[in-house]
Amino acid sequence: MTDPRDELRHLTHDLRRHLEEMQAMGAYAVRGEVTVEPAVAEPAAEPHRSLAVVREEVGECTRCKLSTTRTKLVFGVGADETPLMFVGEAPGAEEDRRGEPFVGAAGQLLDRMISAMGWTRETVYIANVLMCRPPGNRDPQPDEVSQCLPFLHRKIEVIRPRIIVALGKPATHALLSTTAPISALRGRFHEFRSIKVMPTFHPAFLLRQPERKRDAWSDLKQVIEELERIGVRSPSAPKV
Ligand code: URA
Repeated sequence: MTDPRDELRHLTHDLRRHLEEMQAMGAYAVRGEVTVEPAVAEPAAEPHRSLAVVREEVGECTRCKLSTTRTKLVFGVGADETPLMFVGEAPGAEEDRRGEPFVGAAGQLLDRMISAMGWTRETVYIANVLMCRPPGNRDPQPDEVSQCLPFLHRKIEVIRPRIIVALGKPATHALLSTTAPISALRGRFHEFRSIKVMPTFHPAFLLRQPERKRDAWSDLKQVIEELERIGVRSPSAPKV
């Protein structure tokens, strides 16, 4: 049976989308009625986007030098309507080959982390700060981040997740506009455009330092608790 809180969340989401569409068409509510003015009556409103529209806007991107070395652009994967989003750094070799985020060794660990939270790859959304692989998996460079970040912002605006888990330093720094060390930021909620952000360790780091998995799990448990507090239950029972 559908959880009434989920149903209410979906209804609110649909209503907001509908109102945005009406507004984009130039509709105004007048004493309970809705009238549609000619489009010229108002300055053009921001067009309503879907992830498909954002993908079209990205196109066959050549905005930075990574377009010359990538195999496939890695846009993102998952549900386009979900309360839970994960943001990583950039595609690695396997992601570049397959065009999907987090499908290599770090991705397998991320899948296990998501599954332990009671979610799946299909029920959350997974994206990266960069959509193209930096050669040799070097760190993203500022010009690359500045070209790609607006598209991550658009994805977030479309999905409007309740919580974003920022995986590692580049994702956390890009979302929170800070340069503080991840150790000082993880384990508590921050905000990006009124959306709660939980920075935690990147799964690739956890593969190198498995003793930090306990800390990462404590961060993810806070995410589960916060989702529950706002009425969002994991699709399956979390392994808490
Ligand atoms: N690391 C990331 O940050 N993102 C991926 O998609 C894969 C590895």
